[in-house]
Amino acid sequence: MLKVYNTLTRKKEDFIPIHDKSVYMYSCGPTVYSYAHIGNLRTYIFMDLLRRVMKYDGYKLKGVMNITDVGHLLDDADDGEDKLQKAAREQKKSPWEIAEFYTDVFFRDLAALNINKPEIIAKATDHIQEMIQFVEKLEEKGYAYEISDGVYFDISKFPSYGKLSGQTVDEKEAGARIEENSEKRHPADFALWKKADKNHIMQWPSPWGQGYPGWHIECSAMSRKYLGEVFDLHTGGIDAVPVHHENEIAQNEALAGKQTVNYWMHGEFMMVDGGKMSKSLGNVYTIAQLEEKGYSPLDFRFFCLNAHYRKKLNFTFDGLTAAKTSRERISASLYSHKSSDAATDKAVLENYKNQFTEAINDDINIPLALGILFNMLKEPKSKDIYALALDFDKVFGLSFDKISAPETKIGQENDYPQEIAELIEKRKQAKKDKNFALADEIRSEIARLGYSVLDTREGVKVTKIQ
Ligand code: AMP
Ligand code: ZN
Repeated sequence: MLKVYNTLTRKKEDFIPIHDKSVYMYSCGPTVYSYAHIGNLRTYIFMDLLRRVMKYDGYKLKGVMNITDVGHLLDDADDGEDKLQKAAREQKKSPWEIAEFYTDVFFRDLAALNINKPEIIAKATDHIQEMIQFVEKLEEKGYAYEISDGVYFDISKFPSYGKLSGQTVDEKEAGARIEENSEKRHPADFALWKKADKNHIMQWPSPWGQGYPGWHIECSAMSRKYLGEVFDLHTGGIDAVPVHHENEIAQNEALAGKQTVNYWMHGEFMMVDGGKMSKSLGNVYTIAQLEEKGYSPLDFRFFCLNAHYRKKLNFTFDGLTAAKTSRERISASLYSHKSSDAATDKAVLENYKNQFTEAINDDINIPLALGILFNMLKEPKSKDIYALALDFDKVFGLSFDKISAPETKIGQENDYPQEIAELIEKRKQAKKDKNFALADEIRSEIARLGYSVLDTREGVKVTKIQ
């Protein structure tokens, strides 16, 4: 039985979908005004792991992810310029071109990270009519009011406002940097529709004149359209809880008159060098930048898999290098299991499979599942172990099916069995770890098996002892 931590109830709960073996889920997607950074991508890796676990459990998925290409303003409190319009102005392009360019880059990042795209990708600008109708209905029901710069949600009409973050409206008001707009009935009322002046490039006709949607209404209108009034699960990054998701809840529940999402799940933040990622500190990295530094996107995925999704993860290049090395060792080990003709006892395999299933179903405990994989790889070499690792990889998404012989730099004397290759990898790691006693021990073992090892400037030379 899958258990997940529900932000709404602050408890780990049994996951019981509405439609038997199908899961209807919505995931907040990117605002496509710039490259996704590794923090954003951590959130999508979390979404992907969750989806993979559900598929592993036999669920069918109907997942929706939005692409925000309008309405996300510089300030979450409905102020400032539209992020896309600003990027368009700076790059002397149209907002449509900006959106198309960064959407393509985003999809390429997802593919490089083995993140499977949700079944439905919904662009905000393709759903303007649904948003207008949503706002009209809120207005009819008395939850919305029009002022000179737009239509706003009246939070005083929605007494449970703040239930996801546990913040009362008063606390929110005290802590917020919500700009005073004297026409608003309450400072925390938020924009459903903004009126546009002629300088605003993206704008559409509406019952309130020319304008564009608020950011939060996008997710509400699109989730309702594709998943229905009430659906199972909603995911996003933890930063979306206090504003974006509170507002989504207010909109959907005001319209439906009941709770509309059963489980809310949020991925924790990625920090860099122990602090916040920020452009001014120059520590906002993209996948392309990691690749330039010699890391594969899957090294980054593996790095993320080592931390539970509800724990903050501190990104450092040392950490990423350790992940890369560890992944190389896994590949070497998998390769030697793959190359073996031996079999493993059924009961042993079953035991690992059970442990793995238990770990992933316990609120997506991927670090624990990786630990189980490591233990399993220590078993005597066998093709069955490789087959089970491939099965686990349906969740890990680390391309275990594409592993090749471990890379070891050697001279011409590179003709040696897999067993030796693995020992060489182990020795390489021991030396990296400055465990020279172990490195020497491994060298002796290699010698016992009939090979000599020589460290040269070009790499390790392995020669068969005649
Ligand atoms: P955005 O494109 O700005 O709308 O953000 C896309 C997603 O990335 C959202 O779900 C955010 O919650 C998430 N996000 C932003 N910064 C970080 C971070 N440092 N670590 C993890 N997730 C983040
Ligand atoms: Zn959203």
